This record gives sequence, structure tokens and C-alpha cells, in this order.
Amino acid sequence: MGKINKKIIIIGAGIAGLSTGCYAQMNDYDAVIFEMHNKPGGLCTSWNRKGYTFDYCIHNLAGTGKLKLRKIWQELGALIDEEIINHEVFIRVEDEQKKELNIYTHPGKLRKHLNTISSEDKDLIDDYLNAAHSLLSADFFSLGMDGLITKLRIIPNLFYIIKWSNITLKQFAQRFKNVFLKKAFPHVQYDMEGSDIPMFPHLLFMSGFEAGDMGWPKYGSLEFSRRIEKRFKKLGGELHYNSLVKKIIIEDNKAVGVILEDGREHYADEIVSAGDGHNTIYNLLDGKFTNEFIDNYYQSYDYSQEFGLQIFMGLNRDIKGETHALALILDESLEIEGRKRNSLYVEIFDSATGLVPEGKSIIKVVMKGNYNYWNNLNSDKESYRQEKETIFHKVVEILEKRFPGIKEDVEVHDVTTPITVERYTHNFHGLQVWSPPKGMFKVMIKGLSRTLPGLKNFYMVGQWAEGMIGIPNAAFSGRNLIKKLCKKDGKKFQSIIHKVNKYYSSQ
Ligand SMILES: Cc1cc2nc3c(=O)[nH]c(=O)nc-3n(C[C@H](O)[C@H](O)[C@H](O)COP(=O)(O)OP(=O)(O)OC[C@H]3O[C@@H](n4cnc5c(N)ncnc54)[C@H](O)[C@@H]3O)c2cc1C
Repeated sequence: MGKINKKIIIIGAGIAGLSTGCYAQMNDYDAVIFEMHNKPGGLCTSWNRKGYTFDYCIHNLAGTGKLKLRKIWQELGALIDEEIINHEVFIRVEDEQKKELNIYTHPGKLRKHLNTISSEDKDLIDDYLNAAHSLLSADFFSLGMDGLITKLRIIPNLFYIIKWSNITLKQFAQRFKNVFLKKAFPHVQYDMEGSDIPMFPHLLFMSGFEAGDMGWPKYGSLEFSRRIEKRFKKLGGELHYNSLVKKIIIEDNKAVGVILEDGREHYADEIVSAGDGHNTIYNLLDGKFTNEFIDNYYQSYDYSQEFGLQIFMGLNRDIKGETHALALILDESLEIEGRKRNSLYVEIFDSATGLVPEGKSIIKVVMKGNYNYWNNLNSDKESYRQEKETIFHKVVEILEKRFPGIKEDVEVHDVTTPITVERYTHNFHGLQVWSPPKGMFKVMIKGLSRTLPGLKNFYMVGQWAEGMIGIPNAAFSGRNLIKKLCKKDGKKFQSIIHKVNKYYSSQ
């Protein structure tokens, strides 16, 4: 008689769920994924409107170059080397007089550019670029792949981590003598309202660029997710779409199965939730397996989040020759959600991205969004719809100044809010995981809720399990869980590299 593999049920086919499924199959577990949507990816998604592919997620993906993290994408069959787009400029900040700060991804070019803008800031510029360079050797982006001992390689960098975590982009910018750099520098990290984010994550990005490791996969987020979905299926995994899990079945404090929306029950040896943390803990499990730390975490979140609001426009115009990302400092502030905004973050996708045909392009504008604001409006569908239209018109008016004639070229537009994200992914209040107000170090080591107190044979993976955003973190999370299960079952963990070529997706 053949060996019977252990069965694992996975809730959700986002990157974490798909990754868990792939590594489960590589290690002789039988994985079954139930996904509520009709496609893979979760947040890592795109959609089509009149021939334009609006890409919701990936700005930059760690692991596209030569650093260690690349291995996970090779194992998951997620990337095709020839299709990685590496931008020459990470972001261009433009002021009202069209003065430019270009954050070149090549450190030599960036140094030259910054020194040309302000020779009197040479020492500060050196400090900035040397800090980014010094983080390169620690290869921070692959930390999640390593065991505790290997993680200790960050120790020589502790001084830098503390130093640069305690200073925000805005505070650092104030050290420039040059007036334009003082004004422009706070916008360099996705223009995240400029002020409060620390220098450390920005420096990590710059070190990633230096390693050629923060590219963008051609065809965008959904195609990236679909490749991992395909890998899962080729490994023999079972995936069911339109299958919302409503409850986790518990017997003697042990997870034994799930109940779907249609009432069907499915049983397995291990149950993994790769879906939203709040819904898993307080609805699927009725809040029976939690603790003070987890409860405090979910009670302490901020209703506003970066990337919460996105405005997409499909343009009958080729915007070739522009940098991919722009932060436009505005001469007149823009009021959205009752808040004034003094800049606009814009991304441009031309036909080289594979998201639009030749001669067309897409503009995506990304800003902070507030769940409560949209949730209140959503009680009256027409007001909600109208407010999205108003925002689109406000934004296109501003863009008209930078790209004259653009209003006429918009063939299709779309606006996403936290309500959109809540509807399609069930993520708590349409937001991503956020850093806990207390206990960040603990979360970095142990995650937020990889297991739940008192519940056996149940695991969580993905952003809510780890307390960490990022596509690589979601993928590691699944890989690390399967490693752990292999250890529990006395098996040697195996991972298999799968080289994909450009014909892979269409097969
Ligand atoms: C706008 C935006 C831009 C981003 N840009 C980047 C970037 O440039 N680079 C980067 O590395 N990261 C980026 N991120 C972060 C990254 O996308 C996420 O951290 C990551 O995709 C989370 O993956 P996940 O699998 O943990 O969760 P999710 O993507 O939320 O997946 C969860 C899945 O579970 C399903 N599900 C939930 N509940 C149920 C249920 N009850 N039954 C069945 N299915 C269920 C959902 O439908 C979903 O498919 C971005 C995020 C956002 C929102």
C-alpha cells in the first residue's frame, strides 16, 4: 500500500497561501487551498479595464537580483529574469518650478546628481549614501529566510539600524543647507506624506537598488501571483476559487477542518490560515484563542494608511521617456477626505511594462486613505460612487498642469479605497498589517500570531501572522511554516528550484 501523505488545508490564495501550498507539495504534504475570490494573489493583484491592466500592488520587489532572496522566487517559479524591469530613477521629486531631485538607483549617478544640486552638502550626501552602502552586506531582505544564528549577521549593523531608525526623512532633510533639498527630500520614499517615516527603510531600499535587487516584474502583480498559482498546481496542489471559509472546525482544542460558505465541511491534519488575521481570530475561531497582546494589537490600529487610496487612468497617449515614479510638490494644496495634501505621488506605466498596448499608458496616483471616511460614505452607495468621481476629477485637473491635454486622453478610470480592499480580500478595514505600538522587537523574532494560544494543529502565515508587510515576507512565512511542520514530522525539508521561461505563463 502507498504512503498516505498528511493533508493541509490552507485558507487564502494570496502570496502566503500559495507559497505555503507550494512548499507543502514539495515536501509530500497534500495541500488544498480555499480562496474566496475567483483569482489568486490577494493584495498582489491587477485587473483589466478596456484593455488597460491596472496594477494594484508591486512598486518594487526585493529578490529580483543576485541576493539570496532570489532563491525563493526561483523555487516558486515566480520570476522570469529577462522580464525584470530595473528603473534608472526610483523617484523624481519635482517642485512647482519643475526643479528636479532624481533618486537614481545607481549610487554613483545619485552622488553626482546630489552634488550638482548642492556642492555645499557634500558631507551629508556622503553620510546618506555611505549608510545605504553599508547595509548591503547584511542583506536585510532575506532575513526572514534565515534561522536565528544566521540572522545574527545584522549585529555589526546595529549601530546603523538604531541611528537611522531614530531619524525621519523630514528631520534628515532639514540638515541639508540647500533649500530645494530640504523641501524635496521628505518625498523620496513613495511620497508617504513625507514626514514621519524613518530613514532606515529608505536606506534599505537604496541598498537594495545598489544590489540590483528591487526590480519590477513585467506584466505586474497578478501575473506574478499567477505564476506561483501555476507552480502550485504543477506540484499537484488543489485550489478552489469562490470558496469562502466561514468557520474553522475545532475538536478538543484542535483544528480539524473548515466549513465553507455553502455549508460543506472539509477535514485535514493541519489547518493554516493565510487570510486576514482579525477575521481568522475573531470570526472563524470566534475569538476563543487569543491573548492580550493580540487583542491590543487589533484594538490599536490607525484608520488611515498609506496606499489606501489609488486613482487609475488609462490614457490614449504614450508617456514614454518619463521617469516611472514622480512626486509632484503642488503650488495649491489638494483637499481629499477633508485633509489637505501638498504633493501627489504618480506612477507611470508605458507599453514596456506589458500592462498597456503600444501608444497607450496608465497613470496611477497613490495616497493615504482613511477606512472610516469611506465606510461612512459606503452606507449610501451613490455618495460613495460620487466621492470617487470627485477625487478622480480633482486629481486629473492637477495632472493636466504637468501633462497638458491629459484630460482628453483618459479612456477609462478607476478609484480604489479601503472598502474595495475589504470587499475583495477581507483584510481588516481594508488595510495592511501595521507595526505594533509596543513589542516590535518581539514581533520581529516571533511574529504576531504564527500560532494561537491553546489551539493545536493550527497555524497562521502571511502579513498578519508575521506582523510585517511585503511580498517576500508573505512568501517566507509559508516556507518557514512548512520547514517547521517537516521538523515536527521528522522529515528533512526540501525546496526545489524551478526555472521558468517566457513561455511559462501562457502554457
Ligand atoms: C497598495 C499596496 C502596495 C504594495 N506594494 C508592495 C511592494 O511594492 N512590494 C512588496 O513587497 N509588498 C508590497 N505590498 C505588500 C504586499 O502586497 C503584502 O504584504 C502581501 O501581498 C500580503 O500577502 P498575504 O498573502 O499575507 O495576504 P493577502 O494578499 O491579503 O492574501 C490573503 C488571501 O486570503 C483570501 N481570504 C481571506 N479570507 C478568506 C476566507 N475566509 N476564505 C477564503 N479566502 C480568504 C483573500 O481573498 C486573499 O486572497 C503592497 C501592499 C499594498 C496594499
